[in-house]
Amino acid sequence: MQKLRTSAAIKNFRRALLAWYRKNRRDLPWRRTQDPYRIWVSEIMLQQTVVAAAIPFYERFLAAFPNVATLAAASETEVLARWAGLGYYRRAKLLHQGAKVLQGECQGRLPGTAEALIKIPGIGPYTAGAIASIAFGEAAPLVDGNVIRVFARLFALTGHAKSGPLKKTVWERAASLLDPKHPGDFNQALMELGATVCRPVLPSCERCPVADFCGAQAQGKPEAFPESPPETKTAALHRLVLLGRKPGEVFLVKREKSRWFQGMWELPQDFRDGPAADPRPMVALFRKHFGLDVKNLNALPDTRHAVTHHRITTQAWTGEVSGRMRLQKPYVFGEFAPLGRLTDYPLPNLDRKVLQAARLLEI
Ligand code: SF4
Repeated sequence: MQKLRTSAAIKNFRRALLAWYRKNRRDLPWRRTQDPYRIWVSEIMLQQTVVAAAIPFYERFLAAFPNVATLAAASETEVLARWAGLGYYRRAKLLHQGAKVLQGECQGRLPGTAEALIKIPGIGPYTAGAIASIAFGEAAPLVDGNVIRVFARLFALTGHAKSGPLKKTVWERAASLLDPKHPGDFNQALMELGATVCRPVLPSCERCPVADFCGAQAQGKPEAFPESPPETKTAALHRLVLLGRKPGEVFLVKREKSRWFQGMWELPQDFRDGPAADPRPMVALFRKHFGLDVKNLNALPDTRHAVTHHRITTQAWTGEVSGRMRLQKPYVFGEFAPLGRLTDYPLPNLDRKVLQAARLLEI
């Protein structure tokens, strides 16, 4: 095994990694551009979203907002509607805020250094390093979950993947190993290695271009690095939903404040300790909060969704709504949305699943 202590070993490491990346890298839409804005959008989407799931959203989002100016000029509802289905909506709100700052202060241009990028809302150290190195060729390191795993294994580092000391060490190693001549490719190569070869489970060490430098592989236990973080408990929640309909329309609401989906539209809902025997609680909620009557109710299949450390089961009914709407707090907006325009409403995935179960929307 070669230790990454001498400049000759470091050069060999860079050469092996870059040669492998240039031959094996996946052809991804954001790798066909040098546009800092497009790279920024991709990097934000790829946080908490896997590549295959992100691609169609990336393309749709850029078709709607092809540059900083169009994103900055859009309303929050329009931005959230284009993000709907991707989850973690705070990312979209911060991206939108960042675009407004760039449009107002920098004529819509992203600055070319990590130091300046990190001052934009929603751009943290990882994203700043990614944009600076990939779009501008700055020798800026980056560390994400893949890079932490690769470095923890290469250097057989102790500590679990979310521990501060381990992250600090990985940032230092990422800076010292970074290839100053090809920082963008080098950073992408590390992430690609983590995503496709040095996977969390069953890493393919036999086809790893840097196996000769790897401490975990030399010890014969690559999966032991990094250590697993302490387990977080998951809570089960039960949610009742009523899909109120008029011919060609469905009733949607927006709350003043929302625990998870601030700024989004939703189906009227109520959280309970367990399943309800019938839809009466939701009929009462419609009367109390919206002044609407519901009849001809039918149960829909239960749907399941996970949000952070919660597993949510949704029990839903569909029914015909009548009466004149009178909204009560905490609801600030409510309207009958035309079925043909449902995609214009930013709806969280757990409601999209209910609408899909009712055959009104495709996920
Ligand atoms: Fe990861 Fe195995 Fe390569 Fe080490 S040799 S970096 S454990 S894939």
